Amino acid sequence: MPAQIHVFRCLEDNIGALVHDPVTGACASVDAPEERAVLAALDQTGWRLTDILVTHRHADHIQGIEPLKRRTGCRVVAPAKAAGHVPEMDLAVREGDTVQVGGLAAQVWETPGHCADHVSYWFASERVVFAADTLFTLGCGRVLEGPYADLWHSLQRLAELPDDVRVYCGHDYTLANGRFALAADGANEALKRRAAEAEAAKAEGRFLVPTTIGDEKATNPFLRAGEPALARSVNKEGALPVEVFQALREWKNRF
Ligand SMILES: [Zn+2]
Repeated sequence: MPAQIHVFRCLEDNIGALVHDPVTGACASVDAPEERAVLAALDQTGWRLTDILVTHRHADHIQGIEPLKRRTGCRVVAPAKAAGHVPEMDLAVREGDTVQVGGLAAQVWETPGHCADHVSYWFASERVVFAADTLFTLGCGRVLEGPYADLWHSLQRLAELPDDVRVYCGHDYTLANGRFALAADGANEALKRRAAEAEAAKAEGRFLVPTTIGDEKATNPFLRAGEPALARSVNKEGALPVEVFQALREWKNRF
């Protein structure tokens, strides 16, 4: 039976996600942005929390861990590189490790760039990846711990997944991302449609998560840094994609 996934908004603009294995009843919260919102999502779904899969050490992804662990006794899985920052860590994971959520298996991919300890969880059997603050709908995370090449390579790696893979991200910045994407890649028809779709979704109180690898490859300027149009937008024609990527990311920081 396929995994069931429930997403919800929390804090200012974070996106929480629960992954439930209907066979065993196991349920993981991907990160723990906020105790109250995770408990409300568990209440709404009727699922019982067994695991927290931490993607990186930033406060808005881990601050709900201690109260949730106290309340549920769940296991806390977190990147080995975040040790000392993530409370209540039960299992430290690294590149290539596999984590079980009941009968569901997630491969751990180290996806640094936003910060050095960032990992993504790839559920191959479900064709679902939780990329947190690496890849967003129409955007990507800020590079808080360089070099820029780290995030570029992490994004490239995600982009090699099949087009139909669903991507769950850690924040809903879709409207701002869409406006920047249009500034950088305004002749892209697929992007124009997507940005309009994002505006319509927002007006209805929805958000465009999950996205797919295929949609992001077609519309996300940070995955399209190798395209001539994107190089032109930052006056870097002929430059390496990673240099175009850095210029785009720096432009977005000021946008
Ligand atoms: Zn973060």
